[in-house]
Amino acid sequence: MRNDRQRLPGANGEGSRVSFPGVSFRTYEHPAALTALIAMKRARGFDLLLKKVHGAVGEPVVRMQHLTSAVRVGPRQFPRLHGLKEEAAGVLDLPETPELYVRSMGEVNAFAVGMDRPFLVLSSELVDVMNEDEIRFVLGHELGHVLSGHVLYQTVARIIASIGLASFPVAGLALEAVDAALKDWTRKSELSCDRAGLLVAQDLDVAVRALMKLVVGARAEEMNPAEFLQQAAEFELDATGWRNRVYKHLMPSGSHPILVLRASELDRWVRHGDYERILRSGEYEMRSEDGQATFRGGLRDHIREMKDKRDQKAADRALRGYAPPAQRGNDD
Ligand SMILES: [Zn+2]
Repeated sequence: MRNDRQRLPGANGEGSRVSFPGVSFRTYEHPAALTALIAMKRARGFDLLLKKVHGAVGEPVVRMQHLTSAVRVGPRQFPRLHGLKEEAAGVLDLPETPELYVRSMGEVNAFAVGMDRPFLVLSSELVDVMNEDEIRFVLGHELGHVLSGHVLYQTVARIIASIGLASFPVAGLALEAVDAALKDWTRKSELSCDRAGLLVAQDLDVAVRALMKLVVGARAEEMNPAEFLQQAAEFELDATGWRNRVYKHLMPSGSHPILVLRASELDRWVRHGDYERILRSGEYEMRSEDGQATFRGGLRDHIREMKDKRDQKAADRALRGYAPPAQRGNDD
């Protein structure tokens, strides 16, 4: 569908950006993430686990855990960040703009969290090393999670990762399969929201540079996005080979290959023309039609849109088996 985009004035008096009124999360949902979401929702005990964690922890505890050492961004505190967040929320036409906080985490990191009322947290280390365009990508990524309704699931995954699945017993059910499905979806949902980040940043180089800074932090200024994508392409080709298996077992965190693969997947989305079609022609899915796109119908549409199914499968295989970024902290 062709939609009427507008140009929004840039935050802090800079440039302007194309906005996507009424855009649906289906516009940027990665097919591998959709497949993983369906598997997760169908896993026996998923709803029970969700209710159990929600009931045991709840929104106030989550807010206390994350916000007691954080500073809230607003017109009078971090006003430039506030402007960037408002701009990003405008580009994705979010019905409600979540709160944004900054706190020191000892690493370049960002995440969206919350059970009923999602909010965003950027690490002060991220704010120190990223320029405003890169922060636009990060905010777009996190707001993508919010618009997609990911945050409750991510928060549950985060709680389980920190206090263990055994804390939430459900009588008569082994929840390991649910946990595995949740982890698989968590990893793959990043692929969708990197696309949302790109729709906000509107520059692939900026998006790749932001992913690089999540990998190496402060020294990323010396890195080159084209070289990083070349590295990603090599990894993609080798994703199912013996070298990948060695990496998988030797890498303690798994975050670095994940970020390399994420850059590669984003590059592929651009190369296949989907990004240009959305940005330049305004052809995107509308949230007003979300209700008509049934789960199965949505899946069929996505599969039809997959331009190269073999690449999708390679990415899927490569992503399978890595530790979720949440375990290390690079949540993004
Ligand atoms: Zn994310």
